[in-house]
Amino acid sequence: MSFHSDVIIIGSGPAGYAAAIYTSRANLNVVVFEGGQPGGQLTITNDVENYPGFENGITGPELMDTMKKQTERFGAKCISKSIAKVDFSKQPFTVFDDEDQAYTADAVIVATGAAARMLNLESEKEYFGFGISACATCDGFFYRGKKVFVVGGGDTAMEDANYLTHFADSVTIVHRRQGFRASKIMVDRAKDNPKISFLLDSVVDEFVGETKGKIKSLTGVNIKNTVTNEITHHDVDGVFVAIGHTPRTDMFKNILDLDEEGFIITKGNTSYTNIPGVFACGDVQDNRYKQAITAAGSGAKAGIDTERWLMEQRSK
Ligand code: NDP
Repeated sequence: MSFHSDVIIIGSGPAGYAAAIYTSRANLNVVVFEGGQPGGQLTITNDVENYPGFENGITGPELMDTMKKQTERFGAKCISKSIAKVDFSKQPFTVFDDEDQAYTADAVIVATGAAARMLNLESEKEYFGFGISACATCDGFFYRGKKVFVVGGGDTAMEDANYLTHFADSVTIVHRRQGFRASKIMVDRAKDNPKISFLLDSVVDEFVGETKGKIKSLTGVNIKNTVTNEITHHDVDGVFVAIGHTPRTDMFKNILDLDEEGFIITKGNTSYTNIPGVFACGDVQDNRYKQAITAAGSGAKAGIDTERWLMEQRSK
């Protein structure tokens, strides 16, 4: 059996759903493959306070559930399967799910997102969302007057540390070596900020916390010096892990143009990829902003680009 639609969208974060709303509302027949984590990264976020339209904030899962319902209201079909393989070599394009079932479409929108890199410690999994965060812009506000650590030595770590000083009393950057990957100007800015200090040649050995009833909270972190192997305990209220993102683009290697870090390259201020009819939006093509609102905006752009491209093709 084969399934054909006008548009296939791979991914169900804010970018995928926004693209689905725009294309299905334009009367196109749209299928969204939701992947292994329907709703994307926001479904593991607690409160979202910076998404416009929600005066008192909204939880990540609620926001994504609402987006999904809005998508379905216009007729898009959401399938809770992951796409494992694509064939963009000829029209119609074909995508295959993880049971090798093929689906075809005249246009494809890639919105597979990027995963925040984590330290992969057991204790990190335990306290993630309870004092450990991978997004300073999202969660910094909750650390007013508190003591926080930022892990990483890239531009994001420097920028996050500076941003967090708007709220926290003290910010410590924990980095595994002496040199920084971050640009000099960002490092200098962090060094000049009296609220920021550095723990270099240092890695997180373990996150420490407590559980009272059903409430878990991080209380501290054990830091290991990579030169002496000495472990020291530090009381902290929050730790922000800022060690980069990994785009979900493995299946597009040698098919779509990717940058050196694996993010999809889109053309100019559009969602066009190197293959006409294949569009990309959201974090999978944005290593800079990575916000729900910017992903949704980019999904809207991909929806509009797709609809216009299909109209042009069909009028030829
Ligand atoms: P980067 O990949 O640039 O930096 C990641 C940092 O995390 C590195 O210092 C790396 O250490 C460290 N790291 C990686 N894995 C681990 C680990 N397992 N344990 C401990 N430390 C680890 O990612 P960023 O998110 O910082 O930046 C991504 C891109 O976005 C960059 O191109 C950056 O320039 C850009 N950006 C620009 C901004 C601006 O211009 N305002 C702001 C934010 C980002 P090591 O160096 O030892 O490998």
